[in-house]
Amino acid sequence: MTNGTAPSGARRPMRFAIIGAGMSGLLSGITLDNAGYHDWVIYEKADRLGGTWRENTYPGIACDVPSHLYSYSFEPNPAWSHRYAPGDEIQSYFEGVAHRHHLDGRIRYGTAIDRTEFVNGRWHLSTATGPLDTVDVVIAATGVLHHPNMPDLAGLDTFRGASFHSARWDHSVQLDDARIGVVGTGSTAVQIVTALVDRVPFISMFQRTPQWIAPQENPAFTDAEIAAFRAHPEIIDQMRDEISRGFADRFSNAIVDAESPEMHVIEAACRANLENNVHDPVLREKLRPDYRAACKRLVVSPNFYQAIQQPNAELVTEGIEAIEPAGVRTVDGRLHELDVLVLATGFRTDRFLRPIHVIGRDGLQLDDVWAQRPVAHLSISVPGFPNLFMLNGPNGPVGNFSLIEVAELQIAYVMALVEQIESGRCREISASHSATEAFDTERIAAAKKTVWASGCRSWYLDDRGIPAAWPFTFDRFRQEMAAPKLGDYELV
Ligand code: NAP
Repeated sequence: MTNGTAPSGARRPMRFAIIGAGMSGLLSGITLDNAGYHDWVIYEKADRLGGTWRENTYPGIACDVPSHLYSYSFEPNPAWSHRYAPGDEIQSYFEGVAHRHHLDGRIRYGTAIDRTEFVNGRWHLSTATGPLDTVDVVIAATGVLHHPNMPDLAGLDTFRGASFHSARWDHSVQLDDARIGVVGTGSTAVQIVTALVDRVPFISMFQRTPQWIAPQENPAFTDAEIAAFRAHPEIIDQMRDEISRGFADRFSNAIVDAESPEMHVIEAACRANLENNVHDPVLREKLRPDYRAACKRLVVSPNFYQAIQQPNAELVTEGIEAIEPAGVRTVDGRLHELDVLVLATGFRTDRFLRPIHVIGRDGLQLDDVWAQRPVAHLSISVPGFPNLFMLNGPNGPVGNFSLIEVAELQIAYVMALVEQIESGRCREISASHSATEAFDTERIAAAKKTVWASGCRSWYLDDRGIPAAWPFTFDRFRQEMAAPKLGDYELV
């Protein structure tokens, strides 16, 4: 074991496998190339890149992080049509970036990694059909909001119409004459209801828990603005910095300090939105949450309240008893007849790179290490799993910031770890147990002060009810990612 100081000789040739061709997988490939590591491949289980933007194609899909912040820093996009871009535009953006960086031929589509095992200092990857590749480093860019959470609703299989999860939208289904039911009230359901209400004869939203809605306009950029962005890209850089700072100060730092003045500003805006824009007092009370704003991931919409007050929309607050061939039966005995049932019921957020079977040093199984809940040092490295690094892994800042900005900071940190191997300082690097435990202890203490812990059910909470997301400020995240503290790592 070395202490990570003296380089011991020739630089080592290295091969990398990146798992996933979404936002962070593409970023990983581009970053490796820029750093002079050209022996890498991206393995992608689907037949197209794009990750969440490939999989979520439901009507109304958009990103509620401003477009100029939800872009790679090295690939500004003067052509974003709106302050918050629609999903298909974001998907095209990633396809364009991949094309410009010549990634197309380096992504192996239709290749689902089934197992990766660390043997004799290298990772051996296989698919269900057998061995695939042997590499020095694995970068897991497998996403977070990825595995659909299918609700356990009695009789779901008996429904006569079309039924699908929001992340598995069936575009062959005709919507225009259909009575639509949407289960859920999260960001996804709100976007779907708002997009469809003017298009379909009737839409029912099945609410288990109401959500606070932050009002946010989404203006289109004018032709003059887009022309200015093209002519003067420095305007985009400046705008990006301003948005990033404002996002951190007014949102990200507020939600991790439940008593901060900024948090109270967000709550007041949500309350005013409800009071001022929902006219029927009965409906208003049905829509009023009994927990604090941003305890669940804040839903952002300029016009959801208008949509749900349309005469052809209904907010159903009675619980779902069962799904029947003709529709949804609620506990009050009423049958809501439907042609299409959309399950906007969210994702299993504790999966990360699972179901891949990951076996680390000395046969250590990730499934066992994560049997209770997933944990990683600074969301990147797990003790006993050397040379395996995650982007947007457990306990990361998902939901707090632009995930692109997060992934850029993370990949720079990962490259600093890789540099330890390549320079010959070590052959294997993974977080130490003590550093991982110390980080987890501090993280849990901080998590209890966040607004996510103020009393609601949400996907932020782990099996103990403790928020799993990054509970510190964005500045702290930047500081941590600026350079690894090698003392936190085991170098072999
Ligand atoms: P979500 O926020 O987890 O919401 C799931 C909804 O389904 C909740 O209303 C939940 O009710 C309901 N639900 C789950 N199981 C149910 C059951 N068995 N019966 C009845 N209702 C059930 O999921 P999401 O809306 O897909 O959003 C997930 C995350 O994706 C968001 O929080 C956000 O981070 C991200 N997202 C972002 C955007 C964007 O614009 N950037 C858009 C969409 C999604 P309860 O509240 O009672 O649990």
